[in-house]
Amino acid sequence: MAAATYMYNTRDLKFVLKEWLDMDKLLSMPAYSEYYDTGDIDSIIDTTFKLCRDKIAPVSDDADKIGVQFKDGKVTTPESYKKAYQAIIEAGLGPASADREAEGHFPNTIGAANSEMLHAACMVLYIFSAVTAAAVPVIQDHGSDFLKEKFLPNMCEGVWGGTMNLTEPGVGSDVAATATKAFPTDEPGIYKIQGNKQFITCADHDLCENFIHLVLARTEGALSGTAGLSLFIVPKYWVNDDGSLGDFNDVVITGLEEKMGIHGSPTCSVAFGESGNCRGYILGNPPDESGKGVGIRQMFVMMNEARLGVGIESLGNSTAAYSYALDYAKQRVQGSKLTGNKNERVRIIEHEDVRRMLMTLKACTEAMRALVLKTSYYLDLSLDSTDAEEREYADGMHQISTPMCKSYCSDTAWQLAAEAVQVFGGYGYCSEYPVERIARDSKILSIWEGTNYIQGLDLVGRKFTMKKGQLLKDWLSLIDKFIADSKGAAGFEREFDVLNKAFEDVNAIVRQIGAYSSEGKGEMTGLYATRVLHASSILYCGQLMLDQALLAQKKLNSGGGDAEFYKGKIASARFYVLNIVPQVAALRRVIEIGDTSAIDISEEAF
Ligand SMILES: Cc1cc2nc3c(=O)[nH]c(=O)nc-3n(C[C@H](O)[C@H](O)[C@H](O)COP(=O)(O)OP(=O)(O)OC[C@H]3O[C@@H](n4cnc5c(N)ncnc54)[C@H](O)[C@@H]3O)c2cc1C
Repeated sequence: MAAATYMYNTRDLKFVLKEWLDMDKLLSMPAYSEYYDTGDIDSIIDTTFKLCRDKIAPVSDDADKIGVQFKDGKVTTPESYKKAYQAIIEAGLGPASADREAEGHFPNTIGAANSEMLHAACMVLYIFSAVTAAAVPVIQDHGSDFLKEKFLPNMCEGVWGGTMNLTEPGVGSDVAATATKAFPTDEPGIYKIQGNKQFITCADHDLCENFIHLVLARTEGALSGTAGLSLFIVPKYWVNDDGSLGDFNDVVITGLEEKMGIHGSPTCSVAFGESGNCRGYILGNPPDESGKGVGIRQMFVMMNEARLGVGIESLGNSTAAYSYALDYAKQRVQGSKLTGNKNERVRIIEHEDVRRMLMTLKACTEAMRALVLKTSYYLDLSLDSTDAEEREYADGMHQISTPMCKSYCSDTAWQLAAEAVQVFGGYGYCSEYPVERIARDSKILSIWEGTNYIQGLDLVGRKFTMKKGQLLKDWLSLIDKFIADSKGAAGFEREFDVLNKAFEDVNAIVRQIGAYSSEGKGEMTGLYATRVLHASSILYCGQLMLDQALLAQKKLNSGGGDAEFYKGKIASARFYVLNIVPQVAALRRVIEIGDTSAIDISEEAF
């Protein structure tokens, strides 16, 4: 197997888009009805598949083995990147796809599907355009017409790169401590920027001619904490009124990180205004008289996109890991069956434990796809529905499941990559096969865009209590209703029993966390948030998978063909519900026991 062979199987993606989600409803909305219908989905997916197979996946070896280089202050990418990056742009799958004001733009649901395939082909390369794509809506939503006209066309065409600058040498999860400063100039809306940012993805490279940095900074007199922050557009080269590139804007790349994985992605240290000559445009209004800025709210547009994006990256990586492991297991001959003829050597896919690993990969990957695409679908309804009530409901559902997409999918991606290496045995540990690279690349997913703990806190501390708990109520009601409506489904009695138990468990977990909080034990939220997020995500994935299984059963009953796919879907759902969902009961038990030894132990005793 050549390392860069693209083995993505599009069948489940097509099932989700054409059979499971109500795409007829979405595509008949005014934003899309003139441009697409469900009949176009096959050709969209097939076109992206070919792009990934022929042009993107082939660069993944260079991405890892050559990687990005830093010399004389310049960041260079592998030579093969240039054509591949251009191919993404020309296919309309670059930053332009994030332009919601463009006629004929794809809904997020289709965007997520394309994005999964591209990440599976070469995550690090696709990130070059994805990070710009995440910056586009921030300028679109908060920039003046002047700023939009100045920056968006070249960003959408991928000629200029966009970046997201929160992290500083002393500022990671604690964005409130941001030290970068902004000073007003004589020109209205223009500030001098001074500060150092750290770990900035794609802050410089040779695929774009200018870089448009979105930088969080604090103006003089603004409040401390996140409330005082403002967001600035800081170009590497100043852009003249006629659109041409002007003077260097004192944005210096001081180094690149050497990393465990994603070697083909430049992670830059950036000095803004070292020589006192860096200027930026403030986005929206400066802080009001009380010193309150709007920067963090604006940055959240990008972060929310990016968090769902990490769910998609995780899915893409896991899909790739599964495809490679499955292919290898079908070929590698080793040992004989535990209960069969001892003289007959078999392919490892015939061993029970290898099947367990492959089913874990298949079922969890499909569960992640269901979660991520359902969340993208709700995001679309929240933006495009003509019914205000539906928009509000969908927004709530999208908000509550975004931290699940980010955290559950990225934690699972890391575990699945490890499982894929295990399927390969020793060869999986060697760079001849791509799964060790996928494992290294996967680890970043639980760290960036807010560590997974931050997502747990977002779910439990924010989303569960938003609108007086309405989001949580809506989400739980959806699962409750599904169980009530479908629990009699013949052949799925055990699965519904397990799901119903998990539903009760998550309700009990929510009550328990509430009880800890009303007893004044706020530290219990910190101690258990990650586990609450996992329990909630597993319950949700279980429900989504069972919903898909019922549909697959209907299709099988109607005898329309493709029986092996539908049987495989039912097997995945059964496996997920009967092997993964029972973990929720254990998590409930742990949360109810409420052990505090991790808090109580002294540092010396660790
Ligand atoms: C490859 C790479 C690319 C990146 N790209 C970007 C980028 O483009 N733009 C950008 O702005 N940043 C970027 N980052 C930064 C990334 O978002 C941060 O690394 C991340 O937010 C965590 O911050 P930190 O590394 O400082 O870890 P810390 O904040 O120091 O966290 C260390 C550990 O402590 C935990 N922790 C921290 N605070 C708390 C708390 N209050 N309560 C409980 N636990 C806590 C964390 O969950 C984590 O487990 C990138 C990082 C990497 C490695």
